[in-house]
Amino acid sequence: MVIKWAKRIEDLPPYLFAEIDAKKQEMRAKGVDLIDLGVGDPDIPTPKHIVDSLKTAAEDPANHRYPSYEGMLAFRAAAANWYRERFGVKVEPETEVVTLIGSKEGIAHTPFAFVDPGDIVLVPDPGYPVYSVATSFAGGIPYSMPLLKKNHFLPDLNAIPEDIKRRAKLMFINYPNNPTSAVTDIGFFREVVDFASKYGIIVCHDAAYTEVAFDGFNPPSFLEVDGAKEVGMEFHSLSKTFNMTGWRIGFAAGNKKAISGLGKVKTNIDSGVFQAIQIAGIMGLKNYSNGMAERKRIYEERRNIFCKGLDEVGISYYPPKATFYVWFEVPGSINSKDFTGKLLTESGIVVTPGVGFGKHGEGYIRVSITIAKERLMEAVERLRKARFVS
Ligand SMILES: *Cc1c(COP(=O)(O)O)cnc(C)c1O
Repeated sequence: MVIKWAKRIEDLPPYLFAEIDAKKQEMRAKGVDLIDLGVGDPDIPTPKHIVDSLKTAAEDPANHRYPSYEGMLAFRAAAANWYRERFGVKVEPETEVVTLIGSKEGIAHTPFAFVDPGDIVLVPDPGYPVYSVATSFAGGIPYSMPLLKKNHFLPDLNAIPEDIKRRAKLMFINYPNNPTSAVTDIGFFREVVDFASKYGIIVCHDAAYTEVAFDGFNPPSFLEVDGAKEVGMEFHSLSKTFNMTGWRIGFAAGNKKAISGLGKVKTNIDSGVFQAIQIAGIMGLKNYSNGMAERKRIYEERRNIFCKGLDEVGISYYPPKATFYVWFEVPGSINSKDFTGKLLTESGIVVTPGVGFGKHGEGYIRVSITIAKERLMEAVERLRKARFVS
């Protein structure tokens, strides 16, 4: 018998990194000391008070059973409290917050709650690939909003054609932004709220990086804008905030009807987050500032090292005020994928080609600084030797 894939996975864009992965393996087999700046996964361990809290909670048989679908009320209350303290925003833990198995899970399930076949979903390009793939899985049509340097990597809402705006059901935005590291102030969010209420579009703000910011900058929440709760919801992740990517915990907060729609999809697919992990999450949120300054300091130092290196080599980049990414322009007249290959084979440095995040990412490279500063210095040294810029 021939196993055939469904069209929804058959039609997925070709896996861009297959070639790079093969080259990586080949180089590793040859014993080349690769510096991997490709994956956006914090190298710093989860804070001890969070790990200890999991240990204790895991011993308690009460936590071994199915959790509640929407998440423990105590976790949702801790999330609501954190929202009030961090952003001055009030959300009701009972109805306006839902626990997620990481924000990726919530983002991926969102189109199933709001998108009918043929509906349009506005997605940033370049962007986190889950927005458009999940849209397609739900039968929707992703429509790219280009993030361009001349607009500081914010979408130009006025450039979206009228008929597209009218057909759009959902819109994804993400600031601080992966992959460009761009940030925004509340002004852009105000514009989005006006736009969304005028056209009846549900806004999903992916806020995974609000707590990874530098130079004293505190990224705002979308929900700080008056009327934001009428039009949408915001996704948060404990992954990047507390270096907990492996734990799989996040939450969405915002519009009651939107949260319950997402919850309805989830009750039919998953059975919630292990309670011991939610209890550890509560520990993290309640002691939010414990170690936060130090975590920011580490990334800030790495950013300074890497950006100074790019300056010296003569490569242009968008100066990051947040996230652990550096978005730099491909030097010379080569495309991002070929440059990535060249950097790998000639310098042993792994990066992500901008085109992997959408066609408007072409011409750029994303570097992740989730690696020790000594290794970043070594990467800079290799870039210097490579002489990509003449
Ligand atoms: C890392 C990331 C997420 C997903 O985080 P989870 O680990 O699933 O909580 C979501 N959006 C963006 C833009 C990310 O970079």
